[in-house]
Amino acid sequence: MRKQIVAGNWKMNKTADEALILASEVVNMVKDEVNTDVQVIIAPPALYLATLQKYTETVSNVGIAAQNCSSKASGAYTGEISASMLKSIGVTHVILGHSERRQYFNETNEELAEKVNIVLENGLTPIFCCGESLELRQGEDFLAFVASQLTDSLFHLSAEDFAKVVIAYEPIWAIGTGLTASSDQAQEMHAYLRAHLATKYGQEAADNTSILYGGSCNEKNAPELFACPDVDGGLIGGASLKSREFTNIAKSF
Ligand code: PGA
Repeated sequence: MRKQIVAGNWKMNKTADEALILASEVVNMVKDEVNTDVQVIIAPPALYLATLQKYTETVSNVGIAAQNCSSKASGAYTGEISASMLKSIGVTHVILGHSERRQYFNETNEELAEKVNIVLENGLTPIFCCGESLELRQGEDFLAFVASQLTDSLFHLSAEDFAKVVIAYEPIWAIGTGLTASSDQAQEMHAYLRAHLATKYGQEAADNTSILYGGSCNEKNAPELFACPDVDGGLIGGASLKSREFTNIAKSF
């Protein structure tokens, strides 16, 4: 059966000292309190990955993710970080296609397909983000729009590679706004996406795919969201910056 996962996307927050404190608190609390069947992932800024990996590697159900990586293997790409570099320092996961990357850095479904490929080639797990804007949500095609993000960036994968992908549904109107999708809205989308995956990879593969919810998820609403049959955990932004709250979310299944 599919994994339950809680991932903390720190975005562009925390100084080096603050990052060390937050990571060590999370690792210790998860070790003591969180069921080992739940996978916990932290995604700090890239600058801290090498240092914080030393903390996360001490607990078997804790992983560490980059928030992005280059679509290129290596070479003259000033400022970029490759998947092989991430692999070489023990990173386990890479968040790809976050709506902030799509919006501010013009990431397209086509470029994300390349990033998914290079992440998988390097033995890392992509956490592939999808989600619709408020404008789309108010129309009729929002379910199909999000499904098309999966089609365009993932459906070229072999069944074997697809089985390694984690999906995060994050409605853009719920990110950082305090407006969470209701559990009915989350369940509707997650079930729709799972059915969409089944059309390409079959029901068993779809049933084995973890689909996380993200967007103003916190310790109060996580239990109801995670109780939805097709919600397999969360990608947490703001609430991942507080060790107590983030750990409580990981205990919400
Ligand atoms: P939020 O962010 O929890 O602060 O809404 C979620 C995300 O962007 O991953």
